[in-house]
Amino acid sequence: MATELDQLSASAIAAGVVAGDFTATEVARASLAAIEARDGEVAAFLQVSPELALAAAKATDDAIAAGEKVGPLAGVPVAFKDNMHLVGTRTTCASRMLADYDSTYTATCVSRLLDAGATPMGKTNMDEFAFGSSTETSHFHRTYNPWDTERVPGGSSGGSAASVAAGEVPVSLGSDTGGSIRQPAALCGVVGMKPTYGAVSRYGVVAFGSSLDQVGPFGRTVGDVALAMNALVAGGRDPRDCTSQDCPVDFLEHLDDPVEGRRVGIIPELMEAKGLTDEVKSAVEGAARTLESQGAELVEVDLPHMGDSIAAYYVIGPCEAFSNLARFDGVRYGYQEPGCATLAEQSSRSRAAGFGPEAKRRQMLGAYLLSSGVYEKYYYRAQQARTLITQDYAAAYERVDVILMPASPRSAFKFGEISDPTEMYLSDMYTISINIAGNGGISVPLGLGADTHLPVSAQLVGPAFKDRSLLTFARALERGTDAGAGMGDGAPVAPDFVGRGGDLA
Ligand code: GLN
Repeated sequence: MATELDQLSASAIAAGVVAGDFTATEVARASLAAIEARDGEVAAFLQVSPELALAAAKATDDAIAAGEKVGPLAGVPVAFKDNMHLVGTRTTCASRMLADYDSTYTATCVSRLLDAGATPMGKTNMDEFAFGSSTETSHFHRTYNPWDTERVPGGSSGGSAASVAAGEVPVSLGSDTGGSIRQPAALCGVVGMKPTYGAVSRYGVVAFGSSLDQVGPFGRTVGDVALAMNALVAGGRDPRDCTSQDCPVDFLEHLDDPVEGRRVGIIPELMEAKGLTDEVKSAVEGAARTLESQGAELVEVDLPHMGDSIAAYYVIGPCEAFSNLARFDGVRYGYQEPGCATLAEQSSRSRAAGFGPEAKRRQMLGAYLLSSGVYEKYYYRAQQARTLITQDYAAAYERVDVILMPASPRSAFKFGEISDPTEMYLSDMYTISINIAGNGGISVPLGLGADTHLPVSAQLVGPAFKDRSLLTFARALERGTDAGAGMGDGAPVAPDFVGRGGDLA
C-alpha cells in the first residue's frame, strides 16, 4: 500500500486502520519516518516518543485483531504541545526551568485522544511557557515554518502547527490563551481551533492565564479538527477542572450543512486596522464573498470595545501568569541553582537562571500590576473592559450566527524581524478578544497571499458553546475556497515536504 501519510487525513487513517487496509503500526512507522525525514529542517518536535507510539499502535492493532471496538482516532498519529503532561515524556514548556521535568500524570486532553485510539508521536516546541507569537522564545531551539524555513511558524503553539503543515502528523494539540492556536495555524496554512472556554479540560496543561487558557486541535482539514474535537469532549465534563463543562455534541453531525440563510457578521472597522496587510484583507474579503455565494447573508456588526482588548489582555494575562508561575521556585518545582546559602537566595537565583527574558517580563509586569495602588488602576479596569468586550460579542450574536475577520494581520514573518515586544503583541490583535470573551474561534486557510505567496487565513468566531455551528461555517469556507490556491478541500502539506519520507509502505 503506497499511500503517503502526508496526504491522508486523520479520518482516512482511522477508516483505513479499521478496514484493515493498513495497520496502526504501519501508520506509526510512517509518521516516525516523516519526522525523521523532515524534522531536521522544521524542528517542530522537542521530543519524539517512538516507544510510546509503537506501543499504542500495537495496542490498537491487537484490539482490532481481537475483534474489539476501537475509537474514532484509531491509529491516528498525534503530537502534543509541550505544556501538556503525558506520562513517559518530559513536559518542559520549552523552558530551562522544566528542562528535566518528567510528567507524573497525563492531561485529560491527551488521555482523551489516546482513549479514542490515537498514537502519541511526541511533544512539540512552543514559546517558553506559551508567552509569544513566533516560538522564538523557546529555550531549546527555533521551529521553522514549513512553507519558508527563513520564517517563523507563529506561536506560541508553533511546533504543533508546523508538525501538521509539514505532514509529520495529521493532528496535533495546542493551547490558546490569546491566539496561540489560531495565529500559528494561520501562518502555517492549517486549520486551528480554540473551542469555547470550558469545552475542553485544562487538567494537566501547565497554566498560563487560567481564565483565558483553552486547548484545541490543529488539522489539515476542518473534518479532522471536528474529529479531534469529538474525542476531546467525549466523556463529558472533567471533574478535575472546575471550569470544564459538558459538551454533549457530535461535531461531525452537522459539518456539511449548508450555510444558506445564515448570517455572517463583518466588522468594517477591523478591515481598516493599522497593521493589516492588503493580501490578508483581500483574502478575508474573498472569504466573505465565498460564504455569500453559498447563500449566507453578510451583516455589518460593531464591537465597540475591541480596541481595548490588547491592553486588557496584557494586564489580565501577566497577572494570572505571575500567580501561576510562582510555583516554579526551584524547591517544589523547577530548575534549582546550586550553592545557595538561604531559601530566599535559592528561589531568586533559580528563577533568574530558569526563566528566559519574555517569561521574566510577563511575571514582572504581573507583580507590578497586582501591587497595591496599581491594582485598582489597571487590573480592576481591565476586568471592566473584559465585561464590556464580552457584552459587545453577546450583542453582536443577537444579530449574526458567526463573525468573520482575519486570524493574523499578516503572513509569516522572518526570524528576528519583530524584536520589539509590543510590536509582537500586536500579532494577536484579531485573536485576543475571543479569549477575553471566552467564545470559540477557528482559523481557516484561504490559500496563498497574493503578495508574499505564503499562507493567509480567515478567522470565524462564534457564540459561546456554539462550536459545532462554527465548524459548519469553517467547513463551508473550506469547501468554497478556491482550489487554485492549492487549498480547496483542506490544506495540503507544505510543498517542499510532499512525498519526503513517511510512505505507508
Ligand atoms: N501571543 C500571545 C502572548 O504572547 C498569546 C499567547 C498564547 O495564546 N499562549 O501572550
